[in-house]
Amino acid sequence: MTKGRYANIIIDISHEKVDRPFQYKIPEILRESLEPGMCVRVPFGAGNKVRQGYVIEVTDEAQFPDDRIKQILGVEKGSASVEADAIRLAVWMRETYGSTMIAALKTVLPVKKNMKLKEKRKIRRLLTGEEIRALLGEALRKHQNAKARVLGELCHEPELPYELVTGKLNVLPATLKSLEGQGIIAIESESYYRNPVRIESDRVTGLPLSEEQEQVRQEVLSDYDNGIRKTYLVHGITGSGKTEVYLSLIEGMIKRGKQCIVLIPEIALTYQTLLRFYKRFGDRVSVMNSTLSAGEKSDQCERAKKGELDVIIGPRSALFVPFPDLGMIVIDEEHESSYKSETMPRYHARETAQYLAKLKNASLVLGSATPSLEAYYQAKKGAYRLFTLSSRLTGGSLAPVSVVDLRKELREGNRSIFSKKLQELISDRLSRKEQIMLFLNRRGYAGFISCRSCGHVMKCPHCDVSLSQHMGGKLVCHYCGYETGDVKTCPSCGSPYISGFKAGTQQIEQQLYKYFPGIRVLRMDGDTTRQKDSYEKILSSFSEGEADVLVGTQMIVKGHDFPNVTLVGVLAADLSLNDHDYRAGERTFQLLTQAAGRAGRGSKKGEAVIQTYRPDHYSIVRAAQQDYEAFYEEEILYREIGPYPPAAHMLAILITSPEQIQGEELAGRLAGIARNIIEKGTVIGPAKASIGKINDIYRFVIYCKSHDEKVLANVRDRIEQAVAAMELKRESIQFDLDPISSF
Ligand code: ADP
Ligand code: ZN
Ligand code: ZN
Repeated sequence: MTKGRYANIIIDISHEKVDRPFQYKIPEILRESLEPGMCVRVPFGAGNKVRQGYVIEVTDEAQFPDDRIKQILGVEKGSASVEADAIRLAVWMRETYGSTMIAALKTVLPVKKNMKLKEKRKIRRLLTGEEIRALLGEALRKHQNAKARVLGELCHEPELPYELVTGKLNVLPATLKSLEGQGIIAIESESYYRNPVRIESDRVTGLPLSEEQEQVRQEVLSDYDNGIRKTYLVHGITGSGKTEVYLSLIEGMIKRGKQCIVLIPEIALTYQTLLRFYKRFGDRVSVMNSTLSAGEKSDQCERAKKGELDVIIGPRSALFVPFPDLGMIVIDEEHESSYKSETMPRYHARETAQYLAKLKNASLVLGSATPSLEAYYQAKKGAYRLFTLSSRLTGGSLAPVSVVDLRKELREGNRSIFSKKLQELISDRLSRKEQIMLFLNRRGYAGFISCRSCGHVMKCPHCDVSLSQHMGGKLVCHYCGYETGDVKTCPSCGSPYISGFKAGTQQIEQQLYKYFPGIRVLRMDGDTTRQKDSYEKILSSFSEGEADVLVGTQMIVKGHDFPNVTLVGVLAADLSLNDHDYRAGERTFQLLTQAAGRAGRGSKKGEAVIQTYRPDHYSIVRAAQQDYEAFYEEEILYREIGPYPPAAHMLAILITSPEQIQGEELAGRLAGIARNIIEKGTVIGPAKASIGKINDIYRFVIYCKSHDEKVLANVRDRIEQAVAAMELKRESIQFDLDPISSF
């Protein structure tokens, strides 16, 4: 950032809304030292009352005539406050990802709402574990599933946090009330919860670590004590003991009086995982997730600031919980795409955590079974310290995986969506009363409707996407919600041979009923999980054995362990290879590895079947072999030739306009600006975005590539300046650095 004579300052972080910045003159003596994030004293308002403010920008551009701008009085001593760190983080985000300062500030500053503190409640059993177990048997016989879920937990846990039971266990308050009425449990509130002795007695200590786990613990903590700060990558399959390592590291940090942030993708934040943290660290742990109200979120932040918490667990936004003395950030499942924000600023939690760790002098620990190319690349270069956990600690071995060539199936006359092998294995599992997961590598139902005579595809009139067919024949646009009735004849050629591409989850469900009469199927996809909690409901119902098969999309491969699942089928593994972006291979490998990993998690032996039209593609071959290293070597070659991230940086620029011509023109001009800055051949476009129109707004995209991130930041700044000068009314520009999904 350039030094200048003026500072833009936010006077009050009122939290409810971040007010606009005010400009002040920088006195001579502060010219060299003043930086964004510093806390200063300034005269404010008509009475020139002295107020505190935070510098967000230093500039040479005066907003008013110089004599009308007031001057900064001085810098607050020891201004390295939690707020100052947040402001620095926002400044960094704005510079790295490109967004407005206000949007960046709103992202990093917890919203403060004046709401009543919610009572913290817990459930305590009033009977012995034995007595509870007897009641559990009765509840199971009577099919009182919710009651059984609570009792099942209470058999071995004398106390449970109330929100965990009503939330993750999906038990209605009325059910708990009735249990309380029957004298089985007591529902107690905060004052009781705060009594530390009781919690202590219920805590568990860590397991003795394996040699590999112990090495991670010792090295990370001794680095920390020696003042060495690094990023560590723990690579290990699911079940290899990564979480146990995080727990032991957190324990080490707490002993040193430090706090920890643990990021876990929301979808993997299961009851079991949370309980493990609660049991280890008691009520000094808290959760941050999207189901919390704004008031609850702000409570968590207040508790953190006051030093009442040691650990916060949550999705990427948990990074912004304002701890006074952060010691470590853990990012589990570091490869997950949900760590990248899809709204401005489009920050990546991994990179942001790295900056935050530097700011706070903390360590950063990443973990994954299938590390992102980015993280593994850094590890290979020696920038991250790599640890490998090489085996499952609970004994269970990886399930054997077989690949079935669907082209061959078709040649042999099998036109069903289940290969012969998969059909045989499904029958076998049904007869043995074991469970099956069928996974479709694609969202939604059926995909597009096309004419088999002329090839016409039914598209949304407002968006450049094909319509999806839902049950009953209705055609729906997944982008804008447009709906239209079923078509009987092709609108283009009149042919009656127009039909859906039958490969959706609903279709699979129907085929299962047809091939295996009496089979019990649960389905999980975007349609069945629209309601709050329905995701948890489906999973707990499957885990209680209420269905033989769980059919679903991406969602079913994450989180939850199902010991009775001994067969996993991937129905069309290559569907995700058809996405037109450079991460398609990586995404496919990750999904298949995770899917295969779901089989045989219990004591029974499992097996996985991958059906595909491209049995020779390296993503599929390596996933079947469960060989990450070999996959990485092939994938990184492709990225280096591209070049694509992580071998280079890439900036995507999205231009939108309600008028096609104007949008195209603007995109062309901006591409010209980019070409003037970057060497030839690394600016691609402008081109129609992969979805060229959404809601009647046209979309164009430019890609810029460079090995130097600064060059791309420069392109972005120049384009921002040019766009600001144009005073556009209807067009808009968005930036995405190292995009994860295409515009
Ligand atoms: P991951 O996070 O890699 O999936 P976890 O930490 O959840 O692995 O461990 C998987 C299973 O192995 C859990 O049931 C856990 O209790 C057990 N486990 C982890 N570490 C040890 C250990 N050192 N000794 C015995 N069991 C362990
Ligand atoms: Zn036609
Ligand atoms: Zn639409």
